[in-house]
Amino acid sequence: MVLIGIDDTDSTTAGMCTTYVAAAIADRLTGAGAAVGMPYLIRLNPAVEHKTRGNAAVAFETDAAVASAHDHAMRVIQEHACIDSPGTDPGLVIADHPIAAMPRAVRRFSTTCLHRIVSMDTAGELADDYGYARYGWGTGRGIIGALAAVGAMATHQPWSYELIAYRSPARWGSPRAVDPESVAAASSITYPAVWDSFDHAADYPVCVPRTPCPVLYGIRGESPAVVRQTAAAIGSESVSRRQIFRTNQGTDAHIHAPEVPLRERTAYRLPGTVVAPPQTVEGGHVFVDVTTPAGQITAAAFEPTKGFRDVIRALVPRDRLTLYGTHVAGQVNLEKIHIRELRHHSWETPTCPRCDARMSSAGRDAGYRCGRCGTSAAGRIRMPMARSVTAGWHEVPPSARRHLARPLVRHPTSAPITPPA
Ligand code: ZN
Repeated sequence: MVLIGIDDTDSTTAGMCTTYVAAAIADRLTGAGAAVGMPYLIRLNPAVEHKTRGNAAVAFETDAAVASAHDHAMRVIQEHACIDSPGTDPGLVIADHPIAAMPRAVRRFSTTCLHRIVSMDTAGELADDYGYARYGWGTGRGIIGALAAVGAMATHQPWSYELIAYRSPARWGSPRAVDPESVAAASSITYPAVWDSFDHAADYPVCVPRTPCPVLYGIRGESPAVVRQTAAAIGSESVSRRQIFRTNQGTDAHIHAPEVPLRERTAYRLPGTVVAPPQTVEGGHVFVDVTTPAGQITAAAFEPTKGFRDVIRALVPRDRLTLYGTHVAGQVNLEKIHIRELRHHSWETPTCPRCDARMSSAGRDAGYRCGRCGTSAAGRIRMPMARSVTAGWHEVPPSARRHLARPLVRHPTSAPITPPA
């Protein structure tokens, strides 16, 4: 058995998609009589600066000989990958062993790539240690993701699945013909076993990309059967090929436990307490300061997170919650929050029971006194507080979701989820 990993063959401007290149390699191998296992679509650290769109890499297992795997992969990458696009630096790794014989160091490297920024030297040395063939184009940066995708096949994720439908090459770059109502109808039948096909708040089929790549749509779900069932009910232009991938999308594989200090460009799960009223700034972004075991940070909900910002705006000091998001320079860019405890009371300065004037402090530990009539009060008054937000889980809408983020419908939780979708 041979493992093939590829990364970074796509370009945001010229189109193409690493999943398509992988499927094309698999087709050539199948055509040559080899067996090919279900490919793995692996998302890596979404906060890496040099990432390709979505930071996806693909790997699969085949019984082809190393020489044949090498020849087909090289030929397909040279034909299809956007090798000449600036910022596209494809990488190919070929490992001469089955998934079951994955070295622990390669598996661990893959996990590291979800949380940290890894150098090309580290990837190259590790590939050499195990005698893997590796090829890089451009800067060769794609070797990192290619090796990480190979290692990820041996991690024990709670995998999800994505069916990707590809367009006929003649249509690449032209507007996509997908019936949005058929997407809404199909996904409403199979939801929540499929998710993020249609964003009801935005009234948009989020499974249809807007870039000039060969993908017509991608259906994400819990099993190969349910994504196949959903795709079969979608009305669209002709589909040239369908491919189901096993994937770490929708698993929170990128979320790390708290550590001190927080690393840059790493995603965390952070328990905390709100310390100041949220602020909305120009552009509609919302920020709130929270104390956490890793110190005080600012949690951010950006404009594209739409209705999720209303949840953040409604927080008050001393609300207790758990934040999920990526840490960058003292700020956590939110993907979802779990509100564990909402404050329902505030302590207010008393009003004079006789003349209705606002009382003022009579000095330290001396209670309050009315400046007009002299009436005194023992202390501040506990007042019920109306809240426009509910305790439980809140998440960004599908249109703003990171590929890796686990949607709340996949959470084993009894806490309320808002919106119920
Ligand atoms: Zn008074």
